[in-house]
This record gives sequence, C-alpha cells and structure tokens, in this order.
Amino acid sequence: MTPSTTFADRTVALFGLGGSGLATALSLKAGGARVIACDDNPARMEAARQQGIETGDLRQAEWNDFAALILAPGVPLTHPAPHWTVDLARGADVPVIGDIELFCRERAATSPDAPFVAITGTNGKSTTTALIAHVLASAGRDVQMGGNIGTAILSLAPPSPDRVHVIELSSFQIDLTPSLSPTLGVLLNLTPDHLDRHGDMAHYAAIKERLVTGAAHAIVGVDDEFCRAIADRRAGPLTRVHVSRGHGGEAGEGPGILARNGVVIDGRRAPPEPVADLFGIGSLRGAHNWQNAAIAYAVASALGVSPDAFAAALASFPGLPHRMEEVGRRGPVLFINDSKATNADSTEKALSAFQHVHWILGGKPKEGGIASLAPYFPRVAHAYLIGAATEDFAAALDGHVPFSRCGTLAAAVAEAAAAAATDAKADPVVLLSPACASYDQFRSFEDRGDQFRTLVQALPGLRPPGA
Ligand code: ADP
Repeated sequence: MTPSTTFADRTVALFGLGGSGLATALSLKAGGARVIACDDNPARMEAARQQGIETGDLRQAEWNDFAALILAPGVPLTHPAPHWTVDLARGADVPVIGDIELFCRERAATSPDAPFVAITGTNGKSTTTALIAHVLASAGRDVQMGGNIGTAILSLAPPSPDRVHVIELSSFQIDLTPSLSPTLGVLLNLTPDHLDRHGDMAHYAAIKERLVTGAAHAIVGVDDEFCRAIADRRAGPLTRVHVSRGHGGEAGEGPGILARNGVVIDGRRAPPEPVADLFGIGSLRGAHNWQNAAIAYAVASALGVSPDAFAAALASFPGLPHRMEEVGRRGPVLFINDSKATNADSTEKALSAFQHVHWILGGKPKEGGIASLAPYFPRVAHAYLIGAATEDFAAALDGHVPFSRCGTLAAAVAEAAAAAATDAKADPVVLLSPACASYDQFRSFEDRGDQFRTLVQALPGLRPPGA
C-alpha cells in the first residue's frame, strides 16, 4: 500500500466505497488523515466500517471542516450534472480530487524521480497498459501496474526511483487529478465514444490532453485528427506513434515510431529500424494491436529497454482475457473469446483479423446493430445467434450469411464447434465476438467470456494455447 500523507492530521470527505474508494480511505488513514466516508450502497458502508473506516452522512456534515472531497472515479464531476457531494464541496470551497491525485502528491513529496507511466485513450488502454508492464517486467524492472485496470493505485507499493508505476487512467480519473505530471504520458487515440458520459467531444479531448500537457515526455498515437492536433500543440518532448497499412512515405509518417503492416519500426533511427514483427503473436492479433504494440515500444525505449529485449518480451505476452483471447485449438479449428466486444466497432476489429469465421454473436443489442459489419459478412461461414438481439441480427444477416437461432451460449458453442470441425476450408475460427452487451443472459462480459472458455475447454480433444 502507498500511505497518503498529504492530509495528515486533517479531515477529508470521501464518496464512493467501491474497490478503489476503500483502498483510498485505507491509504489516507494510514497517512494520518481522518476520513469520513459515504456511499449510496449500505452494504459498502458496512464493509468499510469493518475495515475500520469511519462512515457518515455527508449531506449532514459540516463541509467547512473538510480539507478535500475525495471522489471515486465514475461519480459525475460535471456531466450530466455534478454529484451532490461535488455541489456541497464547491459551495464550501473544498477541492475535489481523486486517488490518482493523492498518488501524484505522494510521489512529488517523497520520490519525485520515481518513474511513472500514465496511459489513456478511447480504446486499447488496458491492453497497452498490460503490455507495457509485461515488457518492463520481462526486462527485469520492478513494475507496479494498476489504476483503471486491476489494482487501485494506492494499493500498490509506494513510488521509488527503482520501481516503475504503469497506470491506466480513465477520463474521470484525469479529471480528478489537477497535479498530473507523469514521467511518460501516453495518449493512444481519441474517438467520439463514451460521449454519453462526458458531454461533447471538445470537453472529452480537453480532459485527455491534460495528460499530454502535464507529462515530462508525451507519447501520442497520431492516427486520428484529435490526437494529431494535441501532438501539434505539445511544446515539450514528444514521440509520435503512427500506424499504417501502406509502404511508407504517407502523410503522418514522421520521425517517430511506426507500425507498418504489422511491423513495429523505430523511425527515429537512421535508417529506420524494424524492431518487432507482430504476425504470429497470438495475443496481439488484429491491426488495432499494432498501435498498442508500437506505443508499448515507445514507452519501453524511453525507459531504456533495448529493441531486442522488447521483441523478446512481446512474444511471451499472454494477452488479456476476453479480448481476442485464444482459448485453444481442436484439430485445425481455433477458438477465440472476444467477449469484451460489446459493440459493432469492437467486433469489426475481430472479424477483420480472420478469414473464415464461425461467429457467435448476440446479447442485449446496442443502437446501430451490426449493419456496419456488412463488409465482413463474406468472411463469415455461419453465424450462431444468442440472446435478445436474435431477431434483429437475423434480419440483418438474412440473405447474406447462413445463421442459426441458438438461444443460449452453450447451444451456440456446441453447434459452432461441430460445424467448424467438418468445415473443409482452411483455418476455421470459432469466434465469440457478440457486438452486444451481456446483461440479458450474463452478469457481465467477463462472466460471458468465462462461460465460453469453460464450454470450449470441455470439448473433447481441445488443445490449450501453446500445447
Ligand atoms: P480499453 O481498456 O481502452 O477499453 P482494451 O485494451 O480493453 O481497451 O480493448 C478493448 C477493445 O478495444 C478491444 O477488444 C478491441 O476491440 C478495441 N481496441 C483495442 N486496442 C485498440 C486500439 N489501439 N484502437 C482501436 N481499438 C482498439
């Protein structure tokens, strides 16, 4: 744990007692603060009390006594309207911050040279964060990974010059971190997703830009117009990372790092040096992962990892569960769990990575359905429909792709596995990439992916990855 000493001997209010909120309360307490914690959920309040955290009704509190309001990420700061605690804090001139801010203050006070890599973007944050942590750990570094992925930041070991913190940040977390100044600030990409939770694109991009502005060295994926503009405005040290499918010399290819046709190239060297070939790395399938790998190289190289060590580490990256996760093979048939694909955009990345697909899809439908995936329909040998979206998707596929109404995931896996086993075409893939939320039949996308993996692993003759 990292004790947070910035509010020693003072009283702070804390709202939101999920995993990171509880970790924050414990860290503040360990650092000598008095914390009054609150949550809408009585069970969380009780769990906090059992850990020795003082809880209270912040509606009734004397706000002038608080040195800060610590807000859990996801509790609205501005959009659609400020949370009631934010209104009360602002009314009493109490600053509103989050756990990343507490970490930044602790680092500034105790170990300002401690390497701190902060990663954000619309897509690929978790994959890139995990990949960077894997590469650095493979190169023998002491790595602490967390934030928006896995462990809450204040549950990690404290910052120190010989330890690297690799931290994924959501927009909410950046918004609550006024003193964000990482050693390396990584912005992967910006697309108009999640705007329902952030208001307009300008506001969303401005939040993300703060990571780039505050970083000692910024690493920016320049494949979209928003990130390109941010890179162009950046005054300090900057590495641009560009992905292309061409043969070089295109607009946007500068003296940065490239991922061209699946090969990471260090364009800062003369002549440009190929660093790693991503084809054949099962955990980094699909062109979207070119960007993630090239960004990971930019970070590793800035921290002194050699190109050879980077390439060797890539090959042993296990990948993240539910994101194009290889579950195993049965004869020539490959089984892929892409349960994280809860919309058509994500499923497009999966379909584009394979040529001959037995596709399991469906669930709680999203607006827009799967119409945008029509260009990939020729790659689909057969579709297996599950859940509430069945009739919508049947209508979209009708006349283009043969399909079955399977109802459940178990029925879909059984039918797809049997059909793929007798498929005469080369390299058939059974792909769960639902293009839907999971809540009609599952607790979460993780639950859906776990059930898929269990069903596949129970198939006779399945060989796990690497076997
Ligand atoms: P995040 O943490 O930002 O949600 P993940 O690493 O969990 O991102 O990946 C989620 C999904 O986003 C993947 O399944 C894939 O469909 C898509 N994705 C991953 N990396 C990228 C990228 N660099 N650009 C665009 N889409 C991506």
